[in-house]
Amino acid sequence: MYILGPCAAESREQVLETARELAAICSQLSIPFIYRAGAWKPRTSPHTFQGAGEEALKWLEEVKEQFGLEVATEVATPEHAEAALKAGMDYVWIGARSSATPIVVQSLADSICDLRFEISNLKGILIKNPVNEDAGLWLGNIERLEKTGVPVIAVHRGCNHQPCWSMAHKVRSARPDIPMLLDPSHMGGEAAKVPELMPKIDELGMDGAMIEVHYKPECALSDAGQQITPAQLGISLDSLVSRLCPAGLICPPNDEKELNWLRAEIDELDEKLWDTIAARMEVSKRIGVWKKAHGIAPLQPERYQEIVERIKSPHPTSPERGGELRTEFKLALWELIHEESLRQQK
Ligand code: PEP
Ligand code: MN
Repeated sequence: MYILGPCAAESREQVLETARELAAICSQLSIPFIYRAGAWKPRTSPHTFQGAGEEALKWLEEVKEQFGLEVATEVATPEHAEAALKAGMDYVWIGARSSATPIVVQSLADSICDLRFEISNLKGILIKNPVNEDAGLWLGNIERLEKTGVPVIAVHRGCNHQPCWSMAHKVRSARPDIPMLLDPSHMGGEAAKVPELMPKIDELGMDGAMIEVHYKPECALSDAGQQITPAQLGISLDSLVSRLCPAGLICPPNDEKELNWLRAEIDELDEKLWDTIAARMEVSKRIGVWKKAHGIAPLQPERYQEIVERIKSPHPTSPERGGELRTEFKLALWELIHEESLRQQK
């Protein structure tokens, strides 16, 4: 399942032209897709484009008529949901900011429940992971939306441009029955990262992707840096499709997918480790500057001893804080880091 289209519906021309280019490329590749464009954009800053509003639903209705595509838009309030459903949207998605607030998701679920009996067009509700790394809340939101009786689809978009594979792995393991799509656009936050992340779809056995595509990304009013052109998308999808056999996706067997999830988690932890060490070196350099200015030598034996004792003392906190690491290992690793710190302070 592919959900493709611009971040926001900006104008009739932008919505229709992007749909036209996408439809041409995807039909060449025989990839069916659902066309997305956000009518309302719950943005972090009030100074950015907030979407064209209800008028945009008409442009999406035109896309449906002209190109025979299914269409999707983002909803953040019961009023949005009502307008979207009445305009015949096939799918709605709930964004990461709304997903962070259970009351918002509940009110959307309630309004869809109320409307469902009059409007039976809705084929699915997509729920993004919350902006904060919270697998429990994402799972809770899936359950809230399931009460509507409409199929629920999870969209993994990461947090703060970090993949947060561990969160997605927890949700995937707890609810293997719910399809999960990858959103490489919001996960990477840059157009260049989209093709890099695409192989994860089939390595991890995901069910497709939601990707931001704009006919002129450089002119986009929201998320300009991460949208790709229909032609760029075609190249990425083509390389993905070339890994398919005629019978469909060469999905790794289940146990291999599990290994790939674990490897994705460990690669991300390694990245965080390097980031933490680099941040530590940065602080250490500032300490070096302070020491120099105050005529103090880089190595202070009492301070050194104090840290060594702290590492040796049993850690009362959780395993993530190092409670399960062997003292010898912690000391050896810290010695290495400390040595590099001293070198950098000189
Ligand atoms: C979007 O899909 O355009 C969007 C704003 O997503 P998110 O809620 O993941 O930031
Ligand atoms: Mn966006």
